[in-house]
Amino acid sequence: MPEQSRERQKFIRFVLVADDEEVNRELLRVILEDKYELLFAADGEEALSMIRSFKDILSLVILDIMMPKKNGVEVLQEMQEDAELKRIPAIMLTSDKGAEVECLKIGAADFLTKPYDLPEVIHARVDHSIRLFENTNLIRATERDPLTGLYNREFFFEYCSQYRHRNPNQQMDALVLNINQFHVIDELYGRAFGDSVLCAVSNRLRHIVMVAGGLASRYDADSFYVFLPHREEYDSILDLILIGLGEILTDSEMRLRMGVYPDLDRNASLEEGFGRALQACNKRNGSPLGRGCAIYDRKMHEKRVYQARLMEDIDKAIAEGQFRIYYQPKFNIKGEKPVLASAEALVRWEHPEFGMVSPGDFIPVFEENGFIQRLDRHVWRETARQIHAWKELYGAAVPISVNVSRMDIYAPDFEDYLESLLREFDLTTEDMLLEITESAYTESSEHILRIAQALRQEGFRLEMDDFGSGYSSLNMLTVMPVDALKMDKGFLNSITTDEKAVRMVQLIIEIAQFLEIPTIAEGVESEEEYRLLKDAGCDIIQGYYFSRPLPAEEFERYVRKWLAASSEQGVSPCGP
Ligand code: C2E
Ligand code: CA
Ligand code: CA
Repeated sequence: MPEQSRERQKFIRFVLVADDEEVNRELLRVILEDKYELLFAADGEEALSMIRSFKDILSLVILDIMMPKKNGVEVLQEMQEDAELKRIPAIMLTSDKGAEVECLKIGAADFLTKPYDLPEVIHARVDHSIRLFENTNLIRATERDPLTGLYNREFFFEYCSQYRHRNPNQQMDALVLNINQFHVIDELYGRAFGDSVLCAVSNRLRHIVMVAGGLASRYDADSFYVFLPHREEYDSILDLILIGLGEILTDSEMRLRMGVYPDLDRNASLEEGFGRALQACNKRNGSPLGRGCAIYDRKMHEKRVYQARLMEDIDKAIAEGQFRIYYQPKFNIKGEKPVLASAEALVRWEHPEFGMVSPGDFIPVFEENGFIQRLDRHVWRETARQIHAWKELYGAAVPISVNVSRMDIYAPDFEDYLESLLREFDLTTEDMLLEITESAYTESSEHILRIAQALRQEGFRLEMDDFGSGYSSLNMLTVMPVDALKMDKGFLNSITTDEKAVRMVQLIIEIAQFLEIPTIAEGVESEEEYRLLKDAGCDIIQGYYFSRPLPAEEFERYVRKWLAASSEQGVSPCGP
């Protein structure tokens, strides 16, 4: 939690002081250490080698003119000859007024005279030189994030590849760090405090690359990318940053997660390397509290390759009809005998190389990269075509529900597309139902609410899928138009062994009854589950107990049975 007394963390600037006399270094330290992070060199050679190592982070160098090994003027001259060092401003320390002109000519930014000026004067000159240099050096300004002073994402990869070029024999690691639930910090304590958390992490990172070498960047809002010389362990890195964070947050321990892709192949792309580190970092997301460090391993690699392969093939897969739609019947169990009510369309991928790929493998990937919209529309279209074919053949068809992803709803032509499908295949909103996952309702509910209302107006029936798995508030249920609650499969896992699970199921059914809509249970596998649900008052059931999802040819027998039964009795008493 924020500690009010503590001064907010700010972007720290590094200043190198090169003077051979310890008393002079000490004096400048006392004057400047409050505001700057100071580095010291005791002679000209040491100064130059430090300037070279820390050129990426130095904001200023202060050079004594009279120094052993190399004097201040020689150091300044060498800096001027190196394009990368030239941009760092230098203030010369001198007791000899005559030297000023010479230094000015070769590019000094300012002077301080010995014996020293008043502390205020020193401060003013140092501040002024740094400000001038930061303002005039536009390139430098655009390559850094103004809040933290770290490289921004645009320049980071470019400098990494330059770094690689300059250090051809250095093995490098890619690190990605992320602050857990940063938006919560922002919301709870305000933006200014959020900024100080980002600065606390950045300042530590700048220290780390200063000591170990490498480069650090703020990649986006709360994620940091670090290109670091290879090491065997990473906990110490994490610990260092946590100590910094601990100064302002009491729960810093669980605030940071890190992913590492070690020992980047020299020829592999940086983007790929950091992508893997990011994957490792995100994996931590799922572990308890998401804390700690994860290192990219073989299994992650295989998964990534597999997912990349799946993504590569989607266009071809659609064109070649590799996606097949299966239909799983849903039965109404209110009466004495179960009666077919409708079915759910579930996609399957018959991959030429991997065989049957489960939607659990590719749907999350497609949701992430946006392919889901293309796939879903393909599935809706194929389903509409199938319903149309059955209607042509038998004069009527079983209602089929299709899955709608969160992303589908955001497409501006979402409703138009659905309506055009109905028109194209001569269907009504009774023929095609929509299953919308609960998590879609929780985000930006106003937009969803508007769409849901519009769909309802058109006559569509909406089933809330995976109910109970997300975090939707019960309150939302009273405003959102929903025609059925489909309870999450998870509730069934322990329904036969755990009293509490049974109570939960009963509660969901009570909620649905209160809203005067039916409850659907999916994933019902056994007679016992079926009985429990029936006794609890569940209306509709879907699951292996009655039938697995079936290809259209096999599901067709249900269509025929359903029609035969409904023509006999005017209703549709078709059992499993
Ligand atoms: P979901 O919408 O919750 O679909 C129900 C899942 O439960 C299906 O898995 C179904 O095959 C499975 N299931 C049905 N009965 C049983 C049972 O008795 N026991 C068990 N253990 N499972 C049962 P499936 O087909 O693997 O689909 C997984 C998820 O992938 C679906 O969950 C849905 O979220 C998504 N999905 C499937 N097809 C599509 C689609 O066309 N579009 C979108 N956006 N998502 C889809
Ligand atoms: Ca579903
Ligand atoms: Ca579901």
